[in-house]
Amino acid sequence: MTTENDFKLIDNCNRHLNYLRISITDRCNLQCRYCVPQELIPKLSHTDILTYEEILRVVQAATRLGISKVRVTGGEPLVRKGVYDFLQQLVASEGLKDVSLTTNGVLLHDNLPKIQSAGISRINISLDTLDRQKFHDITGFDDFKQVWQGILKAHRMGFYPIKLNIVALRGVNDMELVEMARLSLRFPFHIRFIEYMPIGRAAFRPESLLLVPEIKDQIGVLGNLIAVQEDRHDGPAQRYRYPDAKGEVGFIPAISQHFCNKCNRLRLTASGQLRPCLLSDHQEDLKKVLRENGSDRDLADIFIRSVNHKPSDHNLVSQKPAHVCGQMRAIGG
Ligand code: SAM
Repeated sequence: MTTENDFKLIDNCNRHLNYLRISITDRCNLQCRYCVPQELIPKLSHTDILTYEEILRVVQAATRLGISKVRVTGGEPLVRKGVYDFLQQLVASEGLKDVSLTTNGVLLHDNLPKIQSAGISRINISLDTLDRQKFHDITGFDDFKQVWQGILKAHRMGFYPIKLNIVALRGVNDMELVEMARLSLRFPFHIRFIEYMPIGRAAFRPESLLLVPEIKDQIGVLGNLIAVQEDRHDGPAQRYRYPDAKGEVGFIPAISQHFCNKCNRLRLTASGQLRPCLLSDHQEDLKKVLRENGSDRDLADIFIRSVNHKPSDHNLVSQKPAHVCGQMRAIGG
């Protein structure tokens, strides 16, 4: 059981930080219109990106400071060479109690056995539509079938929970939200509706926003939403269940109801920067310390500095895009 003494990273707002999200690559095999910036941004070079050994060293430093939970993300983490061996080593890291993965699911089907034998059971899969043509329109690729087969196979293999992340966008997938929610009746999936965050210069403008109160209203046609008691894995999601459903629905109201006061996260970018907040540009250069043979104490100091810069709140509101220098895929969504 986690006790107060396990937390060494406590920020100025008394938030206990125990969760590190790690983007292992800025590359992705999809081009989701809401994620990819409109202008061409050069990809990070091989040497810009932290090696797996470097990431594991950061994790070692982090666990000594009370980080016990890690999520591997990107970009698309499964496109990086050597990822399955890395996941295995990560899961074996002393002090980590929980390692999970976020993926777009394109490479999932054939690689699930390797993910499972690495010791990962909790996967989040992004799926913004159940329609093949719309999937192509959103992502630029005709991969819906592949992703869906991967999801079903993960379910058959016993991965749990399988969370399906849907970024709700007006005029794009708003007609499908009820169908997505309906999946939770048949499958033990956690269907999670995420408010679109207008970050930087991605293709959608604030008018595309569809906020949680409206989503809840729409999917309420399927039955009463009964609140589910929170557990330690919850993070910011508000969890509900329809009566007799196998799964759940959840909401991540990044805009309509900031959850900054509950935020327990730090983020390691693909290029080795430690960010205390997805929506602030403050970052500390861990890569420099790693590559200049910094000591464990130096790494710990970077963590502590980062925590001291964690903003109390983000300033993202529906009518004003955030000017975050950096793309979701490099920071890690
Ligand atoms: N490639 C993986 C995937 O697709 O899940 C991991 C990286 S992706 C950046 C992580 C999550 O960020 C996805 O669920 C994606 O839908 C979400 N995301 C990207 N841009 C977003 C935005 N502007 N607002 C809200 N969520 C966003």
